[in-house]
Formats: sequence, C-alpha cells, structure tokens
Amino acid sequence: MDIFEELNLTRYLNAHDTFTKYGASCMRPSTLRAMREISGSCVDLEQVQNHAGDAIARLTHNEGAYLSNGAAGGLMICAAACLARDSEQAYDALPQTGVRREIVVQRAQHNLYDKSFSAAGAKLVFIGGEHTAPTEDELKAAITERTAAVGYFVYHGARHSLDLQRTIQIAHGCGVPVIVDAAAQNPPAENLWRFTAMGADMVVFSGGKALRGPQDSGLILGKREWILRCRRWGPPRDGVCRCCKTSREAMVGLYAAVKTYLQTDEAEEQRKMNRACSRFDSVLRQSGFTNVWRQQTGPVGQSYPRTYGRMPFGRAEDLAAAMKSMGIYIGTDPECNAVILNPLMLTPGQVQQVCRTLRECMEQYRQEEQKHGSN
Ligand SMILES: *Cc1c(COP(=O)(O)O)cnc(C)c1O
Repeated sequence: MDIFEELNLTRYLNAHDTFTKYGASCMRPSTLRAMREISGSCVDLEQVQNHAGDAIARLTHNEGAYLSNGAAGGLMICAAACLARDSEQAYDALPQTGVRREIVVQRAQHNLYDKSFSAAGAKLVFIGGEHTAPTEDELKAAITERTAAVGYFVYHGARHSLDLQRTIQIAHGCGVPVIVDAAAQNPPAENLWRFTAMGADMVVFSGGKALRGPQDSGLILGKREWILRCRRWGPPRDGVCRCCKTSREAMVGLYAAVKTYLQTDEAEEQRKMNRACSRFDSVLRQSGFTNVWRQQTGPVGQSYPRTYGRMPFGRAEDLAAAMKSMGIYIGTDPECNAVILNPLMLTPGQVQQVCRTLRECMEQYRQEEQKHGSN
C-alpha cells in the first residue's frame, strides 16, 4: 500500500501553473537524493545554511544567499534584518519596533504577501495610487529616519509602478535598502541575478515553484552585508523569525534543485515546451476549438509558452472542472472563456495524458451540451 492509498489521497497532473495549493511542482531525483543523504545524520544547521548559501551565491552570481522556508518567510526575514540591522536588542524586541519601523511600498503593488513585512513588525507606508505610480518626489518624501526599507513586488501592479531601477537609485540615495519579491520570476534563470545586478539589496524567490526545490523552501539573494544579517537573525536563532525555520533537508534540497536548474539548457527546455504546446494546439483544434493561440509570458511575466483555446461552446470553467475530476489541473481565462494549458510542470508522457483526457472530456461535454440543446 503506498501513501496515496493509505491516506486516501488523489493524484493530479499540473497543466495549470506552479500554484502553492496544488503542491506547485515535483522535485527532481537529484533533489530527493540530497535530502535523503542529509537526513540520516545530525549536522550544525548554521553550517548547512552558510555552506549551501555560499554555494548558491556562487552559482547565481550573487554576493550572498540565505535559504528560507519559502518566499513569504524570506520576506519576513528580510524585513527583520532591515528593522534590526545590527542591534541584538532591536531584533529581540521584534515585532515591537523602535524608531526605524516603516517599510515603504507602492500602493499599486499592495498584495497579501506584504503581510510578511508586517509580521516582522514593520508598519507599511503606501505611496502612489492603486492605478497611478508615485512620483520620484513622493518616494523621496516617504523615506525618513523611520524608514527601514523599501519593498518592491516585481509583478503586482507593475504597470502602475515606479520602475525598479529608479526605486533602487532613490532608496540608496536616502541610505535605505530595497527588498524585492520575485517569488515566481523563473524562468528565465537569469532573473536570479538580474534584480541584484540592478542594485537590489535582497531579492526573494520561491524554492518550490519553477526551481523545483522542496515546496517549503525559498531563497534570499543579495548583498553580502544584508545576507549576513539574515544569517544572524534568521532561524535557527529564536525570535520573531523562528516561525520561518528551514530544515537541513529543505536547504540541501534547494541547493541541489538550483544547481540542476542552472545546468539545464533553457533554450532546449523552451523548445520542449513549445512542442508540448503544439500538441495542445492540435488536440484543441481536433476537439472543435477554432480560436487557439499561444502566449509566451507566464501569468507573472515569466518566460514560458502556454496554449490558450476559446471554448467553441459552453464554459471554460466547466471543462476545467471535468478535467480536474479526471485528475488534471488546467487553467481558465474567464474574460475570454478560454482554457489554458501549461507544459511547464509536465513530462512528455504527461503531456500525452493531458491531451488524451482533454479529448475525452470535450467529447463527453459536447454530447451533454447536445442533449441539453435538443431538450
Ligand atoms: C508564491 C509567491 C510568494 C510566496 O512564496 P512561498 O515560497 O510559497 O512562500 C510570495 N510572493 C509572490 C509574488 C508569489 O508568487
């Protein structure tokens, strides 16, 4: 009896996206091997943190790296590092803050992940409008002696934001660090060093999305000075960030995942995904879809192809529900009543399975529609 039977769990293929609630992604054998290897012995967690962090920093062309329990936990540790800086007293008091207690965020970028900053004790100061970027002067005026950091969300509100480069220049001009949430910004791999090369002090990524590390892992990449503060205040130390504890298995798993991720040939991966999309395109056309197109950017601006198909009849949500009942997650775009098929998390065999199931579901759906139509 395997664990699926023992706990009565349902298996799914993920043809939608790296959503946390689906389990996001599946780990590679090399990741699982590293996790199994380290789990048999006790080790000094700080040593694992420092050595894995240094290795990831080298691999990703960064000054430093800290391994967290996810991007959300990483944002909390970054905030704590900015609030406490080098004061033990200030760190131990968190979430009670002293004079330096604010994190400035553009209002258009407001989203539920900025709670990670608040959780460390920071008070959020929003600038600009929901649909208007703040001016450079507004940003300058918002930075005072109370400011611990400027927070920046790469995806949320991107069209109504002051760009990252200018935000960094202004924040640094006022002596304040910038924390960037780039949790889902892979592929391309290059994003692991693009934002830090622009000058961002700490940039946070999910380990469990396209990097395919443990789901409860994340990366803080950035300037040595700030990474050292993350190492000092972050777990295993007790205090406000103790709830972001990362296991040795998650740390070495993430290291192995990043290493393999950077060894894979991105152009070849893109070709594979485009081949999968071609299969999706033809199965949709064969199933009566006349309006089929491909989008090269992922939902938060990543670079990978996805197939869209506008429903020839009925509702995309109903087809997605039927697919889910067959063990496959697919996406929908309610605005244009389209289904979305994403090859990112699928092997070629799984792509075929998705195509087969889609054909079956469409056939059944068509018959049901016709039955209802003739009544
Ligand atoms: C997924 C996501 C997070 C949270 O990442 P975890 O690794 O699940 O903690 C934070 N911010 C953004 C923008 C995300 O997409």
